[in-house]
Amino acid sequence: MSESLCRQRINAAVSRAIKLGVIKREGCCRKGCNREYTVAHHKDYNKPLSVVFLCMKHHVAWHSKRAAKQPKEKLYNLSASSLFDLGMKQLGLM
Ligand SMILES: [Zn+2]
Ligand SMILES: [Zn+2]
Repeated sequence: MSESLCRQRINAAVSRAIKLGVIKREGCCRKGCNREYTVAHHKDYNKPLSVVFLCMKHHVAWHSKRAAKQPKEKLYNLSASSLFDLGMKQLGLM
C-alpha cells in the first residue's frame, strides 16, 4: 500500500462523514474570504476527519507554503471505513 492510496481512502472517509452530517461542509475558513466552493483540507493526515474548508485559491496558497503531515505507515493498510472510525474516535464522536 502507498501513501497516496492511503490519502485517497482518508478523503473517502471525509466524504462519508460529510454525507452523514458528522462534518459540516463550510465556506472558506480564511478571514474575509466569502467563497463557498471549498475543499476539505488536512493539515495532518493522521487525523483523518480533522479538516478545515478552504477555497481553491487559499488551498493552493496553503500548499505552496507548507506541507501537510503525511499518513504514517501504520495507516497504510486501513480501509476507508477503519480510517473513518479512527477519525471519529479522535473527535470523541465514537
Ligand atoms: Zn490540502
Ligand atoms: Zn478562501
